[in-house]
Amino acid sequence: MNFISTRSGAPATSLDDALVAGLAPDGGLYVPASIPPMPALAPQPSLAATAQRVLMPWFGGSRLRHHLGALCADAYTFEAPLRPLSGDGDHVLELFHGPTAAFKDYAARFLAGALSALRQDGDTDTEIVVATSGDTGAAVAGAFHRRPGFGVTILYPEGRVSPRQAHGLECWGDNVRTFRVAGHFDDCQRMIKAALGDHDLRERRRLASANSISLGRLLPQMAYYAHTAIAFHAEHGRTLGFIIPTGNLGNACAAVLARRMGLPVGDIVLACNANDTLPRYFDGADYAPQTTRATLANAMDVGTPSNFERLRHWHADDTALRAALTAVAVDDATIRDTVRAAPGRHGIVPCPHTATALHALETLRASGDTRPWAVVATAHPAKFDTVVEPLVGYPVPPPPALAECLKRPARGTPMSADADALRDVLLAQEEPVD
Ligand SMILES: *Cc1c(COP(=O)(O)O)cnc(C)c1O
Repeated sequence: MNFISTRSGAPATSLDDALVAGLAPDGGLYVPASIPPMPALAPQPSLAATAQRVLMPWFGGSRLRHHLGALCADAYTFEAPLRPLSGDGDHVLELFHGPTAAFKDYAARFLAGALSALRQDGDTDTEIVVATSGDTGAAVAGAFHRRPGFGVTILYPEGRVSPRQAHGLECWGDNVRTFRVAGHFDDCQRMIKAALGDHDLRERRRLASANSISLGRLLPQMAYYAHTAIAFHAEHGRTLGFIIPTGNLGNACAAVLARRMGLPVGDIVLACNANDTLPRYFDGADYAPQTTRATLANAMDVGTPSNFERLRHWHADDTALRAALTAVAVDDATIRDTVRAAPGRHGIVPCPHTATALHALETLRASGDTRPWAVVATAHPAKFDTVVEPLVGYPVPPPPALAECLKRPARGTPMSADADALRDVLLAQEEPVD
């Protein structure tokens, strides 16, 4: 299976090269040259088993093909349960049972296993550099922690993540180094991009990125949509739609890809926070990236959704794309109201991100919509206790893995919002690239 760039300048690349490169050489995003059809798949006993079957056609010609069973067994060690919401037959797909209590654990673990398996004898250590607005960094740190041949450098914007998110970024040690940057997420991202584009630095240090545009994160996220949709279809004879809390569109693009493979994924709704670039576009306005606004759903604070380029690539024109998805914007006041009412209305405590999707569901139901929907719960509410607990009025205990991380000491280092500061840190542990 070959991959091409959304900007078309680059020659077709193998999956293995695309996984290691992250971004295409012309600055575009890798997309499959064609989307492999998935013949009807019977329900599988585990998420790992579904993952292996759904990913297999993408790995034709990959050196990882024969490792895929083991890679999936190692990455998908926790299920993604679909639970009923109390009341009117709706569901929530819980993606927060991994080590850092957010959906990004699945793909980060798969990517870590894949990059490990692709290492060749004699390779120098690879430094994974990542800018995070909260959850990516922790998932990547957890996935690469103590993994031979890898180090991780995380940049996050100081004071702009929840206290428990900050702890989750700083609790690793060993081969993981965490820097709190005096700036915004956009500064962190700019510093990472500068490092990745610095030819001199890259001759002296083997760097790789793990951000949400990496194919190694996009593809594995199809697994939980496939697993859930197949089981639902087998039981009810209907396709299940998904309402997905959305920032950079990584998670939603995986649902789109699963549907394009022919899996019984129904309609897809993008639930956004007050950063409403996507809702404006899907309501008919020209695509117009905006500067990022800080909201309660901080992992979705994105004004320029990076995977939009992929969505555009997969649809002939704006009309086709607007027919494929819908999007809603949910402001902070509505997020608060939704969290506050959720225990009584739905029998769950949502995190602020999940609350955007829950509100979108309530709006659909109020308008008489009768399609089956799953609200995608992207993080555990205990990660956002300082927002959630005052609203629901009682403590939300952290799940075991998060509790364990909160017990370990936090050790972050301050860094100025300056690309040279990151460069110095990376060169201080120089290991010549051969
Ligand atoms: C990253 C994240 C999102 C947004 O996911 P994208 O793939 O960037 O759209 C939503 N919710 C939570 C909790 C996240 O960590």
